[in-house]
Amino acid sequence: MGAYVRREYPEWSWSFSRQQMFSTCLRRYYYNYYGSHNGWEAQAPSEVALAYRLKKLSNIYLVLGDAVHKSAAQIVERVQEGRRVPKASEVEEEIRRQLRRVWKSSRDDGDLFLRRPNRVDMLHEFYYGLGISEDTIAKINQRATETAQSLVASSIWAELGEEGTRLISCEQFDTFPLGETPVYAVPDLLFENTQGQWIIVDWKTGEEAEDNRDQVALYALYVQRKHGVPVDKIVTRLEYLNLRTQQVLVFSDQELEVVEQAALASMEEMRGLLRDPTQNIPRAKEHFPLTPERNRCLWCNFYELCKRELAESVS
Ligand code: SF4
Repeated sequence: MGAYVRREYPEWSWSFSRQQMFSTCLRRYYYNYYGSHNGWEAQAPSEVALAYRLKKLSNIYLVLGDAVHKSAAQIVERVQEGRRVPKASEVEEEIRRQLRRVWKSSRDDGDLFLRRPNRVDMLHEFYYGLGISEDTIAKINQRATETAQSLVASSIWAELGEEGTRLISCEQFDTFPLGETPVYAVPDLLFENTQGQWIIVDWKTGEEAEDNRDQVALYALYVQRKHGVPVDKIVTRLEYLNLRTQQVLVFSDQELEVVEQAALASMEEMRGLLRDPTQNIPRAKEHFPLTPERNRCLWCNFYELCKRELAESVS
């Protein structure tokens, strides 16, 4: 691992999740990508330190998604080693272990989180004292069971274990350039099957959404550009584990061109909010307004920072 190099401003990059945040609330985008930068430093200004702490919050659905992704990555490793796919009960137990661990640290380690937010997993629901309803707990329990069953039953494992299949990456951070901008792409699983097709797998633990299609389209663009794979050899698979459904999507060159143009337009829009684009210095916070969709705020990590302004804007 390289030595830590302090940067006064964050590095400029683009990702699908950055775009999602930009389109839902500009203030949230500001805190997440700029206002929390260097907030881990002991001498950080209090607002920056608070933004950094709040950025670290998770929520119960994210923890479930993360636990499922970890289990999927473990199965990939096992299949690569020629070992059997675990039983659904084993995967479910591992998912529940992760959930219990985060629940416990959220309940017991609040003080440590205030001092060392990067050391403690903390749920938004505990931090803000909102609690987790019985309904939500029931839903999470059901999803833990369903996703574990669907994950082990996925046809992906047989394909991945076939002789001649080549694993390219599993949950690996990578970037590719669009214009001058590094674009992040982290497919859950990428492999080349015995027919020479490059399969991009994205595990989902929530509902079907149009955004998911856009996300895998970006991954297809990444595979085309970074790995030089012709578009007719790229297949994307959205695996909705709790719904037990699967969407197979292929894209044309023209469709990927549209994806590229949309990403470039989004970058342009983001850079319009920079005071100095060469150093990625943002304009003042006031240029990043609070979302008009106030129903988002109660569940937002940065609510503590916006609370007063939100109250003033309704009075
Ligand atoms: S609390 Fe509301 S206005 Fe503030 S960052 Fe979050 S979503 Fe945006």
